[in-house]
Amino acid sequence: MTMPYIVAIRAFTDNYIWVIRDHCQAAVVDPGEAAPVLDYLRQENLKLIAILNTHHHNDHVGGNAGLLREFAVPVYGPADEPIPTVTHRLKECNDKESEEGCAYIPEFSLSLRVLDIPGHTAGHIAYYGGNMLFCGDTLFACGCGKLFEGTAEQMVYSLQKLSDLPNKTLVYCGHEYTLSNIRFARVVEPDNQALIERQAVVENLRKQNLPTLPSTIGLEKATNPFLRCQQPEVIKSASSHAGKSLSDPVSVFATLRDWKNHF
Ligand SMILES: [Zn+2]
Repeated sequence: MTMPYIVAIRAFTDNYIWVIRDHCQAAVVDPGEAAPVLDYLRQENLKLIAILNTHHHNDHVGGNAGLLREFAVPVYGPADEPIPTVTHRLKECNDKESEEGCAYIPEFSLSLRVLDIPGHTAGHIAYYGGNMLFCGDTLFACGCGKLFEGTAEQMVYSLQKLSDLPNKTLVYCGHEYTLSNIRFARVVEPDNQALIERQAVVENLRKQNLPTLPSTIGLEKATNPFLRCQQPEVIKSASSHAGKSLSDPVSVFATLRDWKNHF
């Protein structure tokens, strides 16, 4: 059996549909639209074997139905979100044997563990396995998702769960937002050397119209202000923006999130 590898398909203006593939078959994560996936499968002569969804937003699930018309495949998705096409409803489970807590793709012998990461939406999940993390719109490169259905406290807890994964974990996010995220992060932490270096790398990639993903958990911990709410420099900037002294990570996070929304 060959090891699967990952390819990005672009959708809409800045979405990524992640393809887990080998030489003849593919699973897709968050197909917001079907057409670019079907084009890719045709070009590469691949058979679709599974769909995985992280949350219910249409730019992540809108392509499910169109793909299912051509391929009768299992659709893995969050247990507690309104996605009618999902066939396998998943949620985080401490019991490692539990089917509900795992998306298993037998063709790749790949088992992806489900993590509950509410905040962007109420039932958002991530898939983790084989040194890969598919985290939808929760963790972005140098940023995080907006709080549409959850609280700052939930999001802090969810991001903490992701940052506890091994540093080498490859992070596949749902959007190409890295450059604008870095511009904000530089204002929060102007002296962060890792961030300055990352900006140069990302600007170079974007000049060539290349994806800035995957990231790694280690790089995010060094450069993503939303994972750094306990760092003195981040606390200082957030406090200064809020006009009062902030100390707990949830208030620091909430201030950064609100600041970024208006940035
Ligand atoms: Zn979303």
